Amino acid sequence: MVRAEGVHKSYGQVEVLKGIDLEVRQSEVFCLVGPSGSGKSTFLRCINHLEKINAGRLYVDGELVGYRQKGDRLHELKDREVALKRRDIGMVFQRFNLFPHMTALENVTEAPVQVKKEGRAAAKERAMALLERVGLADKAGNYPSQLSGGQQQRVAIARALAMQPKLMLFDEPTSALDPELVGDVLDVMRGLAEDGMTMIVVTHEMGFAREVGDALVFMDGGVVVESGHPREVLGNPQHERTRAFLSKVL
Ligand code: ADP
Ligand code: MG
Repeated sequence: MVRAEGVHKSYGQVEVLKGIDLEVRQSEVFCLVGPSGSGKSTFLRCINHLEKINAGRLYVDGELVGYRQKGDRLHELKDREVALKRRDIGMVFQRFNLFPHMTALENVTEAPVQVKKEGRAAAKERAMALLERVGLADKAGNYPSQLSGGQQQRVAIARALAMQPKLMLFDEPTSALDPELVGDVLDVMRGLAEDGMTMIVVTHEMGFAREVGDALVFMDGGVVVESGHPREVLGNPQHERTRAFLSKVL
């Protein structure tokens, strides 16, 4: 689903990604962990076409990000084409970013209607089913300000799912939540994993990584330091940098 080959990304003189190689398979829960500033969010933004890489190759769903093949030549994607690609990728951020003036149901209905031109009635019906799935059917009429952080985050997940993405990116989805609200959000993510969604999850929740993750990459300073099965990397880290990081978050 995602393959990075020597991905580099710089902002001006600052090199943030220094040659990332990794592969995310279909239906895999792929955990990306590492200290603040290591380039995790930047990498997600590259996958989601929000940043252009400077060198290397990045494939999503078999296609080179930023380009399309025409005959035997590559052409840069136009903005409209990028927008089309981005529809297939759901993203959930640390801050929930719901539309504040819309109810939970309206938040989940909006993109399918506006972007995909789905009929409103059908979109609403699917949105209700998604709210049910994240355990919030009874909050459909609430505005974001009338929901807890954990509930808002679950609406944000439902909103991303409404576009029927092939891939979901989670950037520290529980970091801004009060501890007692984290479990409900992780439960929703666990359910998604069980349904076979391909997910890249940036998280400090090592329990989730160990129980739900299929693969884990530890990043530091813009490089992959080590990778493997979560139980392997977490249980028996090979590098001092990984051990130092884990001793702080475990
Ligand atoms: P992480 O998500 O692992 O904490 P980030 O990808 O957010 O790391 O950031 C990695 C580095 O890139 C940081 O040093 C950050 O300051 C820098 N950075 C991120 N976005 C930008 C930007 N738009 N312009 C300049 N520097 C940036
Ligand atoms: Mg980040």
